[in-house]
Amino acid sequence: MQATLMIYDGTAAPDSEIPRTGGVPLAPEGFIWPLCGDCCGGPMQFFAHLPVEYGVLSVFLCQNNPGSCESWDATAGANRVFLFPPAGLVAVAVPESGVTLLPAVSAIKTQVVTLEPETGDDDELPPDAYDLARSGWEREPGEWFGKQREVLGSLGGSPSYLEDDRLPGCPSCSGTTEFAAHLEEGIDRQTAMNLGGQLGYVFVCRPCSEGAFLTD
Ligand SMILES: [Zn+2]
Ligand SMILES: [Zn+2]
Repeated sequence: MQATLMIYDGTAAPDSEIPRTGGVPLAPEGFIWPLCGDCCGGPMQFFAHLPVEYGVLSVFLCQNNPGSCESWDATAGANRVFLFPPAGLVAVAVPESGVTLLPAVSAIKTQVVTLEPETGDDDELPPDAYDLARSGWEREPGEWFGKQREVLGSLGGSPSYLEDDRLPGCPSCSGTTEFAAHLEEGIDRQTAMNLGGQLGYVFVCRPCSEGAFLTD
């Protein structure tokens, strides 16, 4: 089984074009910073800049009222995913109020990991490519745990242990979305994205240049 892991790779400039969490969003000229449609209408927090082969995914979640705002829900209006064209993006002006930026920029390197489930595993869950790759990351022989906090998620593949009835539709055309990425909270609890301790799932509708986000 194979997964393209996203691995923490130090820090980066806040307006860097490389894959990263934190920093400022890069977007087409005239882009308007998304506001929460669930709680206060305040500006969302910018989470991640993820270049993919068909453009750049840009992920925002509301953090103005952590816990009360349903930022884990794909349809509550408390998160947004945009698909931008790969070129012509500029740094977006940051709103003056609200919880808008993460405390740190984390650069991401990608690493294709191929692992087969251990035979004789009597786990009741079927093997999952992402779960397998993440739990095996930098794990030495005989160790139970590797350096899982270095894993910031993965690109492509299929959503890890997500029930079919949670797959989100496109917010624009109501069509189906395709799975794009997993997001993990990050290496340092002080500066990490707040996903409520859950795994984040990024979906995209390429024709609409928009996506959906949820945690599970
Ligand atoms: Zn909100
Ligand atoms: Zn659509």
